[in-house]
Amino acid sequence: MSGTYLGMPAFPEAARTAVRDATLRGNLRHATHTIRAKRAKAVSEVSDWAALREAGKRIKDHTLRHLDRYLVQVEEAVTAAGGIVHWAADADEANRIVTRLVKETGESEVVKVKSMATQEIGLNEALEAEGIRAYETDLAELIVQLGKDRPSHILVPAIHRNRGEIRDIFRSEMSEWGRPAPDGLTDTPAELAEAARLHLREKFLRAKVGISGANFVVAETGTLVVVESEGNGRMCLTLPETLISVVGIEKIVPAWRDLEVFLQTLPRSSTAERMNPYTSMWTGTTDGDGPRTFHLVLLDNGRTDTLADEVGRQALRCIRCSACLNVCPVYERAGGHAYGSVYPGPIGAILSPQLRGTGSEIDASLPYASSLCGACYEVCPVAIDIPEVLVHLRERVVQGGPVIRHGNKVVLKPAKGHAAERAAMRAAQWALSHPGALRTGQRLASRTRRLHPRTLPGPGRAWTGSRDLPEVPAEPFRDWWQRTRGGRDGAK
Ligand code: SF4
Repeated sequence: MSGTYLGMPAFPEAARTAVRDATLRGNLRHATHTIRAKRAKAVSEVSDWAALREAGKRIKDHTLRHLDRYLVQVEEAVTAAGGIVHWAADADEANRIVTRLVKETGESEVVKVKSMATQEIGLNEALEAEGIRAYETDLAELIVQLGKDRPSHILVPAIHRNRGEIRDIFRSEMSEWGRPAPDGLTDTPAELAEAARLHLREKFLRAKVGISGANFVVAETGTLVVVESEGNGRMCLTLPETLISVVGIEKIVPAWRDLEVFLQTLPRSSTAERMNPYTSMWTGTTDGDGPRTFHLVLLDNGRTDTLADEVGRQALRCIRCSACLNVCPVYERAGGHAYGSVYPGPIGAILSPQLRGTGSEIDASLPYASSLCGACYEVCPVAIDIPEVLVHLRERVVQGGPVIRHGNKVVLKPAKGHAAERAAMRAAQWALSHPGALRTGQRLASRTRRLHPRTLPGPGRAWTGSRDLPEVPAEPFRDWWQRTRGGRDGAK
């Protein structure tokens, strides 16, 4: 994933800073509670929601199981329709491909549709380094870009900003990027939207290159689908001469009929809309309509490794609705930035450590950024059992993750703790497979029991500080059994 967040502190430290920010907490609480209530109402209108959820889960699982076949089908279909397919193993390769494609057009600026995949790979920064300016055109992404900020929510990247802050950002920053904010701009939603509309329109009309992601790729025809609410995506997808779409390999669905499920569950789960305001679909290129050149960059960037994990792979079902963020008590208080990834909230806590590995402090801490209350699982439209994956990833972390600090204080020592646990397990394994030695050890422990310490030394001291060590009985169980049962029931 992108290096944008490299060096982030572990979640507990980042979250501590966030929860002290009363404005941030107020913004988040208001926004998440509003969206969550609207979503619950929109979902309750659908009598077969449970069946749709199950269908979405099955379609995604089926596709992931046969991803090799569907990827080839996508490549063949897109190529047959006049598109050009590129394969990117990681973020660097994807950025190199996109940068080269833009340079080949001779352009030095591009317009972008909101895209998690391009954020994941840090495309804007990679383009900037090569002298290419990328303009975000989604309203919330525009606010983030103008504010030199980072997104904190999948669907509403500027959820941490209130209207007054947005007005101030527009007033002070718009002129640096193009058309300035209108004089006397207030913080009313209509005025803010109009300011963004005027600012963006000249970019849409000027841009020769558009960059997008996709919500879905239909394998049977090679059709890409982008769903959005503002219409900016439609402008980026249709006006430029060249369109480059960077899409994670998990975004494939086998057939058009599968869209029936997701085009019902996604809008209700994300924006609480009954149907999506703008649904753009395109298949390769079409003479006399839309971009002349279409490139599809299929992105792995850790997805194949995630797919190899039987428990963790369910994270690849995600359709990025962000319903899990809006119900999460941890996200509501800590905010999105504390997760150190473009994927915040519960899905980020299971996706980032899988895509990036658990080698860094922030990624090793993410599986613990949850109370395991299960609200995320309840609302997920593709039934990702996020708590199950969190617990699974905690196991992975303790098998070799780094020490996690909170300021100067060590709050989690997974690697060290696990080494001691492994040593204890190895000793237990040896003892249990050598019954004679076990019996001798038990008798010795019984005879010396009055000499045993009441607390453990070293790292075990913390454990016994709040627990009593179990007392060793005066007579080992096996001896008692032998004495009282005399070898009956097979006891020796
Ligand atoms: S994990 Fe589920 S609820 Fe969360 S964003 Fe993905 S699809 Fe939506």
